[in-house]
Amino acid sequence: MKSNCGVFAISSGKGNDVIDDIFLGAFYLQHRGQQYCGLSTFNGKGELKIRTHRGLVRPTFEDDLKGLEGYIGIGHTSLKDRQPIKLDSKMGEFTICFSGNVINKDELITNLKQQGHSFYTDSDIEVIAKLIAQGDDFVSGIEHMSKQLHGAFSLAILTKGKIYVTRDKHAFRPLIIGKRDHTVAVASESCAFNNLGISIVRDVEPGEIIEIENGDFKTVKVIPSPFTQYCSFEWIYTANAASIIDGFSVDMARERLGAALAKRYPVEADVVAAVPNSGIGHALGFSHESKIPFDNVFLKYDYASRSYTQATQEARDREAKLKLIPISEKIKGKRVVLCDDSIVRGTQMKNDLVVKLRNNGVKEIHVRIACPPLRAPCMYGVATRSKKELAATDKTIEEIRKYIGVDSLAYNTLDDLGQALGFPLDQICTSCWTDKYKV
Ligand code: SF4
Repeated sequence: MKSNCGVFAISSGKGNDVIDDIFLGAFYLQHRGQQYCGLSTFNGKGELKIRTHRGLVRPTFEDDLKGLEGYIGIGHTSLKDRQPIKLDSKMGEFTICFSGNVINKDELITNLKQQGHSFYTDSDIEVIAKLIAQGDDFVSGIEHMSKQLHGAFSLAILTKGKIYVTRDKHAFRPLIIGKRDHTVAVASESCAFNNLGISIVRDVEPGEIIEIENGDFKTVKVIPSPFTQYCSFEWIYTANAASIIDGFSVDMARERLGAALAKRYPVEADVVAAVPNSGIGHALGFSHESKIPFDNVFLKYDYASRSYTQATQEARDREAKLKLIPISEKIKGKRVVLCDDSIVRGTQMKNDLVVKLRNNGVKEIHVRIACPPLRAPCMYGVATRSKKELAATDKTIEEIRKYIGVDSLAYNTLDDLGQALGFPLDQICTSCWTDKYKV
């Protein structure tokens, strides 16, 4: 599973060039989407500039920023399509990018075609842009789009001088505001701010529409909602561990999930280890709670990162195998607790990790999983898995244990998940595990 988009926006109140900030902001959101990336800027005159690439931000843009200079702009990383896109409308030119998923896209496209619109693509972002362009201004356009759209979104719009950002009224996808001197930035995750010297101001509220101009921001509208649905998978897997989402540290959430596993499913073992990288926080939490020492039993080989761009599942599995190298001396004869964020199909655990541990003389393998068994696809633009890929849709936990070939297997309960994240279960999205969609 990989997330499917990262959004970044920035405006300098001093007219300083921000292209390097946009480039780096998108770079630090690379984990949210690896197939396409794009940047768009405005330098005070002429057209909005826009450029997109297939591939990763750094290799594709590092030597290709010329001509994109500007004091205001947006950036995007994507797993499914090229963004930002550009539209001309009665409000003038704008570029737009988003993170999320439009569930009723087909119905919206049909309606828009009946109203006389033509489509270049069948992408979610084109539907969103065309709905917004029906407004009298960007705020009423966003409001109009929000009423029509069924799904999840966090988005950024660049106009000739202003940026608008908004988050759907249930706040599925994260979006956070930061500041540095006379500069305002907005990002899908706060990890995009840390190395740019940008400090967190606050999260964008559910349904809030924010206007950014000359390095300052103001709320121009809030679309009310009776409840939130923060994606709980952000804290478990999707987000970078350095991020703080809706007031709660991702790293701390992972440690608490690991600690909950150690409390509910203790086991006698010699070492607690992680499936790098997303299992590390969970493993540290398990280790601290159980007092069993944490150690690396696998090391990630830095140059085996091509799995992001492989087209088939077989090719991705092969790349996953190349990625982790077991450290034989650390595991021979040991009882190992192996922590991971989730199990999708279980094939990587079975065919790669367990084989490598057994071949290196591990005595016992006890797997602990930070979230409950995955039972449903995500409709809100996070994971690309399908229901038939999920091991837990047709296997019990004991059957999964036997399938992957380990000595014990346990998952966090839904209640422990809610407690570890510090949110009531009705305020976070748990559809991955319940197969029930509240929105
Ligand atoms: S279905 Fe799962 S991944 Fe999708 S928004 Fe809900 S919790 Fe997040």
